[in-house]
Amino acid sequence: MRAIGIVGYKNSGKTTLSRALARELVKRGHRVAAVKHSSESMDFLSTDTSKLKEYADQVGFVSATESGIFLKGERSLDEILTHLDADMIIIEGFKQELSYPKIACLSGRAEDENLFNGLIICAVGPSDQMGEVGGQDVPYLNRDAIERIADLVEEKAFKLPRLNCGGCGYEDCYGLAREIVVGAKTVEECVAQHPAVEVLIDGKPLAMNPFISRMVGDTVRAMLSSLRGFTRGKIEIKID
Ligand code: SF4
Repeated sequence: MRAIGIVGYKNSGKTTLSRALARELVKRGHRVAAVKHSSESMDFLSTDTSKLKEYADQVGFVSATESGIFLKGERSLDEILTHLDADMIIIEGFKQELSYPKIACLSGRAEDENLFNGLIICAVGPSDQMGEVGGQDVPYLNRDAIERIADLVEEKAFKLPRLNCGGCGYEDCYGLAREIVVGAKTVEECVAQHPAVEVLIDGKPLAMNPFISRMVGDTVRAMLSSLRGFTRGKIEIKID
């Protein structure tokens, strides 16, 4: 799963860009999912059905054209991502998340500078705002240049697991993410992406830091080694 963030202040065109980018990436054959941070409630269920939300913590709905799951309460971005099945995720908002690259939608206001935290791969805005932005050396593209923006996304999108385990030699995922954005490192440096032990829950990988991964592997191997018939090799365990 790779991800690209779309960040910007109010009325900077984030949703318009997200929609155009999703359309272009689907056209190119990607399975695209989108996540949006909102300060408003999403009342996407009909008035009658939405009454279920008053008491149930989770509501699933299925219709002939769409299906969805409503989860009560604010969830972390990474929890929401575990529910999605796509190869490219467009994440709108979530300025504070630091484990994937982002596109800055400029509004022309002074606070745009705050968006440049080392994870921006390009700035997008109207063509009359040309010039250096945020003190960061990134391409500045007209928001209508969606094919060039999509090219950059295909080249640079990634998502680190946000375990902040330090296994890559950086204090946290943000440290490695910044180096990947400037091309000094690759996602392969994240050792948590290639754990010695891989756990799949309902077919989806469970993120584990290297310490836990080694501990699970050593413990399971030690338990199995006392059983007759044990030999060294790749171990597969299925738990229903
Ligand atoms: S190894 Fe991966 S999960 Fe751990 S801090 Fe580095 S980037 Fe984050």
